[in-house]
Amino acid sequence: MNDPLLTSKLEAWFTSNARDLPWRTSHRDPYHSLVSEIMLQQTQVSRVLEKFPTFIEKFPTVDSLANATEDQVLAMWAGLGYYRRARMLHACAKAIVSEHQSIVPSSVEELLKLPGIGRYTAGAIASMVFHQRAPIVDGNITRVLLRLHNQPIPQTDKKTVDWAWSRADDIVNSSQNPACLNEAMMELGATVCTPKNIRCDQCPIIAHCQSRKAGTTESIPLPKPRAKQRKLYCSSIVFTQNQSVLIERRDSKGMWSNMYQVPTIEREDRQPTPEEITTHLGVGADSLEPAGSFTHITTHRIVEFDIYRSKKAIKGADLNYRTIKSLDELAFSNAQRRILSIVEAL
Ligand code: SF4
Repeated sequence: MNDPLLTSKLEAWFTSNARDLPWRTSHRDPYHSLVSEIMLQQTQVSRVLEKFPTFIEKFPTVDSLANATEDQVLAMWAGLGYYRRARMLHACAKAIVSEHQSIVPSSVEELLKLPGIGRYTAGAIASMVFHQRAPIVDGNITRVLLRLHNQPIPQTDKKTVDWAWSRADDIVNSSQNPACLNEAMMELGATVCTPKNIRCDQCPIIAHCQSRKAGTTESIPLPKPRAKQRKLYCSSIVFTQNQSVLIERRDSKGMWSNMYQVPTIEREDRQPTPEEITTHLGVGADSLEPAGSFTHITTHRIVEFDIYRSKKAIKGADLNYRTIKSLDELAFSNAQRRILSIVEAL
């Protein structure tokens, strides 16, 4: 394959077809790029577009993020999911402040030493921000490469991943502009060489594409085995008093760790009864009324929620009531936000 010709076509295409995204500025801000790259892992661009501006407004610099509390960071991350990324980004900001005088490092080697920064993010920052000749591979790029070379193999196998990194390295080394080339590969995978409804007629490298010639584009890559989703049953109660709602904090381990919730009991074998929650809180269940139910689906779980409400408040020095207005400042999962919408209906 003629890599210099391939890369020049990709770069020319990206220059006139790049989507206008807030982190794609003519002089990329290293900290903003770091935030956007971590947000974009496992989250759609449309959702990141909603959250990125408010996150940057709240934490405009790496120092402001490093100085924030974990609660503040998680609250601003709410809605993006995969909260471990928010904790790692927070730890990363602290390390940049304490070990790099608040300056984001420019080399892949130094970036890889930071918490939460893997090979993809290090390559993305080094190439797109600091114009280093570093390869990047994500799901979009792997799919483009597999189709380009007509490789009907599973996308996530280690052998495939190693091959994709090696091929991405060849390609970036043939490029005139590594930053532009890497963004072009990602953009092509995100907008043209998509998993379904592939738009080959819009593709700048159609003349090089072996799967297009073979008529196999739709079947590449091979589908990956679906992750098995386990069931979880949750029952939650909304207690209110004086425009405040009773909340508790989850454990520091497991799903939604350290996040807030209304009193909730969960089991893996059956739906918990409301009495199980009220016993846990030391009150009777006679004032509770059912307020609805819904199913919440995550990558690994199918969570069945039953919701109850009680207009009767329970008292206790160690109980944590927060005003409804202040709940926006705390980190709740999307499922718990849905439950909290019931509070507003009371
Ligand atoms: S020709 Fe089609 S399958 Fe091949 S790289 Fe372009 S969009 Fe993907």
